[in-house]
Order: sequence, then C-alpha cells, then structure tokens
Amino acid sequence: MSRDPEARAPQGPAVRAEARGPFNTRCKTCREHIYKGKQFNAHKGTVQNEVYLGLPIFCVIKCTRCLAEITFKSDPKNTDYPVEHGATRNFQAEKLLEEEEKRLQKEREEEELNNPMKVLENLQELKAQPVPGQRGF
Ligand SMILES: [Zn+2]
Repeated sequence: MSRDPEARAPQGPAVRAEARGPFNTRCKTCREHIYKGKQFNAHKGTVQNEVYLGLPIFCVIKCTRCLAEITFKSDPKNTDYPVEHGATRNFQAEKLLEEEEKRLQKEREEEELNNPMKVLENLQELKAQPVPGQRGF
C-alpha cells in the first residue's frame, strides 16, 4: 500500500503542523508584520524533487490579518527559510519601507500645511476605500 497514484500532486502530502515565524516578515497583501517566533497553524510538506533528507521543505501559513497565504521554503542546507511568496522578509527592505512611509507622511503633512484644501481631499480619499478588482469609478 505504499504506492497510490492518487497521491501524486505538485507538492507532496501536507501535514497540519505548528510553525513559528522564522524571522520578522511582512505580509505583502495587507502589510501586517509577522514577528519572528509567532505561532501559526501551518501546513508543512515536501516539494517533489526537492526533498532534502526527508525534512519538510515548505510551510504554508496564513496571515493573521487578511488570511493571505504565505509560503516559506525551508533550506536545511543553509538553515535558512526563504520566503517563497506572500511576504517580504524584513532586513534592509523593512528599513527602506519605513523610511519611505515616513517620507510620504511628511510630504503629506507639508502639503496639508501649505494647502488646507488638501486636508479635505485626503479625508475623502480615506473614506473612499477602493473596491478590490474595481478600477476607477
Ligand atoms: Zn496579510
């Protein structure tokens, strides 16, 4: 009973498992921070042709905020966990993002100082949340 043609899938059988955020990262969808050591319910499994010493080689978690799937790939050779998709790893990128946000925030504040009408516009922008998948009006 070891061979089951039905079991063939792009990825090996996934098992439910607990996973911890292997590093500080950030969801690409909602930009939620995912801190190192945070616990998740995850699916772990192997990717065909990429099994390394029988260790789980991928780990799928869901963002706690928007439920977007985030896939880590374990790399036991380098004891590393590159993000497969769904998130950005926080190193330099995190710092750059924060600086960019601060810069935009400052720009916006300065703009509002110079142009009181802009405050109203910005408020309206906040209210008019774009509907995903819908462009324009
Ligand atoms: Zn998210």
